[in-house]
Amino acid sequence: MNIPLIDVVGQNLALAAELEDAFARVLRSGRYILGPEVEALESEIAHLAGAKYGIGVSSGTDALLLALMALDIGPGDEVICPAFTFFASAGSIARTGATPVFADICPHCFNIDPADAEGRVTEKTKAIMPVHLYGQSADMDPIVDLAQKHGLAIVEDAAQAIGAKYKGAPVGGIGDFGAFSFYPTKNLGALGDAGMLVTSDDSLAARARKLRVHGGERRYYHEEVGGNFRIDEVQAALLRIKLRRLGDYEAAREANARFYRDAFAALGDEQPHPSSCCGLSDSSPTSAPLALPSPAEGRCHTWNQFTLRVGGGRRDHLKDFLAAKGIGAEVYYPLCLDQQKCFAGNARGGDSVRAAHSAAAECLSLPIYPELTTSCRDRVADAILGFFAA
Ligand SMILES: *Cc1c(COP(=O)(O)O)cnc(C)c1O
Repeated sequence: MNIPLIDVVGQNLALAAELEDAFARVLRSGRYILGPEVEALESEIAHLAGAKYGIGVSSGTDALLLALMALDIGPGDEVICPAFTFFASAGSIARTGATPVFADICPHCFNIDPADAEGRVTEKTKAIMPVHLYGQSADMDPIVDLAQKHGLAIVEDAAQAIGAKYKGAPVGGIGDFGAFSFYPTKNLGALGDAGMLVTSDDSLAARARKLRVHGGERRYYHEEVGGNFRIDEVQAALLRIKLRRLGDYEAAREANARFYRDAFAALGDEQPHPSSCCGLSDSSPTSAPLALPSPAEGRCHTWNQFTLRVGGGRRDHLKDFLAAKGIGAEVYYPLCLDQQKCFAGNARGGDSVRAAHSAAAECLSLPIYPELTTSCRDRVADAILGFFAA
């Protein structure tokens, strides 16, 4: 039997009866977009993120774009984001007409390096977008400090990190805006595209709500040009049902992470991870065959991905070896943003984001979804131990 990297079906099928009741309710309600289910989900996610308002949107990407639009970011502006993240972080910046400026990452937690980011601030910089990659918070204290010092807005890309915390504060609610994605493979996954923007600022919330529906408070009267960034009732109804189980899903991911960390302890170079790991600047943290992911002090990891670093140029061999055994493993992400063709004209990366390039060459994510059985988990661990024993 193959072990996929991700299994989104099992979790939804386990709730089939409850979900079908909810779908039937929406079907009969005649409210298909932005109705009572969306409003309830908005307040539930805002509460979870420690923010005042939730604004349900069509995807995580649209949440980011809407946040930047509401902050009036556009041509001539610069926004700093990490060089190593999913494309949408930088894509949303570029779509406003602003220039994404790529900062290097911390080789230990894979998140934006605040000191490197600060070195890239210019008079054009309007915002910084920390990404809580793989489910672990970025090092927010120095990011909040540098944003205050330089008058920058903070847009948190929390797409992979719903429920994660930084020194007790939920991610998403720390910056001016936080963006969540409910793409099916995220820790809280919909049955299609959906997302949520959160903020505690009254006027930013009102602006984002207006831009979500073509920039008009009253239908057919438009004060400005927005877009269609709306979310469906059927997605909201499903997400509310799954949100009640989010704690169970997180606990199962955490147990899988603990299992892998124990299983690979002898192979791994277990780094000390103080909360300020981003200040330890060696770009390749391991001389051992593996570097194991571990939560930095004060940051609870929600394990959207369990991502190893495989040293010695053997990452792709390991991936192929696992594939031959029917085990899914994936590289998130094989190219950094400064290496993407579409950003070829943007030279703000290159050799200056070395830790990001090295992460892209060494990272490999293993199956960690909550429904992964203990026997599948054992097989993954045995295969990896066998690879390094050979
Ligand atoms: C998934 C993801 C997004 C985009 O979310 P969508 O809902 O797929 O649009 C943005 N940033 C990061 C880091 C992501 O992982």
